[in-house]
Amino acid sequence: MKSYRKELWFQTPTRRAFINITPQVKEALQESGIKEGFILVNAMHITASVFINDHEYGLHQDYEEWLEKLAPHAPIDQYRHNDTGEDNADAHMKRQIMGREVTVAITNGKLDFGTWEQIFYGEFDGRRRKRVLIKIIGE
Ligand code: ZN
Repeated sequence: MKSYRKELWFQTPTRRAFINITPQVKEALQESGIKEGFILVNAMHITASVFINDHEYGLHQDYEEWLEKLAPHAPIDQYRHNDTGEDNADAHMKRQIMGREVTVAITNGKLDFGTWEQIFYGEFDGRRRKRVLIKIIGE
């Protein structure tokens, strides 16, 4: 069995952002040379997510608005976590909803996706350097 590990780094200019990372994940799979197996992609921070969905018009704005309704950033003092001096309690909650990681099957050297599936990085407390881990196992 072979394994391959790679980190992707992000620094979004805004507090919140969604980035399609499917091309970087495909590139890592190419580099690994693995044809059959599994690929894990996870955010290495507890205020960011990796998730799979469609790359469809309006969807990222809809996520943004939906997440802001569920866990509004402001007022900051509505969250006990922010009593510590942080201002990112909402980002912890947004990450909890959108998830930590995805696992995708690899078949014939390709991501074995459903028709519209793409992999996204969801940033909820950006403007600093953060990492995504890619781990591939198989043969
Ligand atoms: Zn925090």
